[in-house]
Amino acid sequence: MPTLAELEREAASCTRCPLAAGRTNVVFGVGDPNADLMFVGEAPGRDEDLKGEPFVGRSGQLLDRLMREEIGISRDHCYIANVNKCRPPGNRDPEPAEIEACRPYLETQIELIEPKVVVTLGNFASRLLLERKEGVTRLRGRVYPFRTGVLIPTFHPSAALRGNAEAMAGMRADFVRAKEHLGLSER
Ligand code: URA
Repeated sequence: MPTLAELEREAASCTRCPLAAGRTNVVFGVGDPNADLMFVGEAPGRDEDLKGEPFVGRSGQLLDRLMREEIGISRDHCYIANVNKCRPPGNRDPEPAEIEACRPYLETQIELIEPKVVVTLGNFASRLLLERKEGVTRLRGRVYPFRTGVLIPTFHPSAALRGNAEAMAGMRADFVRAKEHLGLSER
């Protein structure tokens, strides 16, 4: 198995799918490679493509805020990655073939990091890692056994940013679940 740094170097010159042609930067992932908590989003947007770092735009600001308010940590204490490492043009949804082409990077990231808790943000990450067809609205509210730990599906921050109060409340509740499974809750 490669190291995380080797995998990142490989991804930096990846041409496995057509998204490679339109990217400014490959957005591999960021954070603590030994983290107990890993977030998985969908794909980089404009801000992320320009900076080469996941969740640095408005969705990322909300993610950082909920992480701080509900779990009591900052992004340095977790690892953040996406299903797709390159930005889809115009922020369209990633195509199934693009998801499959990129999947080995995410799978290996998870194997190397071995997080206790994976929180999937939105439909794409939740469906892919749980191997289920339902959307996140149906999948969330439960904790699933996953690899060496658990997986907690939740809404994508962009849903909460669109003013969906149910998404915001659901995300808060799911982040509290994550905190409990990390052993960070006072009892
Ligand atoms: N949305 C995502 O799913 N990932 C990012 O990195 C930014 C926005």
